[in-house]
Amino acid sequence: MKIRKLAGALAVSLVALSSAAFAQDKGMVGISMPTKSSARWIDDGNNMVKQFQDAGYETDLQYAEDDIPNQLAQIENMVTKGVDVLVIAAIDGTTLSNALANAAASGVKIVAYDRLIRDSGDVDYYATFDNFQVGVLQATSLVEGLKERFPDVKPWNVELFGGSPDDNNAYFFYDGAMSVLQPMIDSGEITIPSGQMGMDKVGTLRWDPATAQARMDNILSANYTTQDVNGVLSPYDGLSIGILSSLKGVGYGSGDMKLPIVTGQDAEVQSVKSMIAGEQYSSIFKDTRELAKVTVGMVNAMLEGTEPEVNDTETYDNGVKVVPSYLLTPMPVNAANYEDVLVKSGYYTEDQLK
Ligand code: BGC
Repeated sequence: MKIRKLAGALAVSLVALSSAAFAQDKGMVGISMPTKSSARWIDDGNNMVKQFQDAGYETDLQYAEDDIPNQLAQIENMVTKGVDVLVIAAIDGTTLSNALANAAASGVKIVAYDRLIRDSGDVDYYATFDNFQVGVLQATSLVEGLKERFPDVKPWNVELFGGSPDDNNAYFFYDGAMSVLQPMIDSGEITIPSGQMGMDKVGTLRWDPATAQARMDNILSANYTTQDVNGVLSPYDGLSIGILSSLKGVGYGSGDMKLPIVTGQDAEVQSVKSMIAGEQYSSIFKDTRELAKVTVGMVNAMLEGTEPEVNDTETYDNGVKVVPSYLLTPMPVNAANYEDVLVKSGYYTEDQLK
């Protein structure tokens, strides 16, 4: 009797042990993120660690603080540690080819996360948002704001900012925005007093807020001594904060100098607060929980030997191959809809935005 009980207990604990081991046994995922200087990447990292661990994976999450050699070293390290998969949001999408060739040679699967990795045939899949549409939404919201805040101004004075020229996304955002703005420039509804247009003139290396602020300072002093700026296309909340501080520094937002319409992207807490305070006009919300979910799904499928779900097999040519992609839908957000989009969805609590 006693022995039978013991045997039974042993069998039960063996089952428990093997299922625990199985849960931890799905493999190891190296997650390489660009920087902690922007809140969105911290959310991305946390969401992925949680969702990968819930799905039974071990994770190794590293941030490279926008330093390219640092990101390369972190990725090489992950491969040495024996990861099965790399999930990478690249700082410079063109610098990883050798590291990825080595990883792929040891059987590591590679997912480009949010930003396309260029010049490499070793990228298996790409999980991102519809980046062209992000730009369309930014420009659409800019025009909406111009109509609302400056109904009697003709033409509207607008300045343009682009993202980092080494980030493939930056071109998609810019092209998407220009698909809305260029026809209005051509018809004379919008003018660009600085004349600075095109990614080579408006790009902001490493998405650096201080660089954007300095460029805005220069634009204001060179072009706006006798006229006001009405709108600024900003592709990312961090830049918007820098641009707004430049504008406020010369008196916009006080007396009879209305703040221009300033757009953004990522719906970072600081910018949502700014929208609520009536400063930044809008942002684009990209639900990083959903992006993590798509990524985990891709990894699961690859490791189980099935085909990951994709919804775009044409857009993202990285110079070597068209990378099969899953594009999520971005959402415009402003002071009028932030509660529905950001609070009711559980992305932020009301308290975080106070
Ligand atoms: C991302 C944006 C982000 C920007 C700066 C881009 O690649 O898609 O969401 O605002 O990088 O971090």
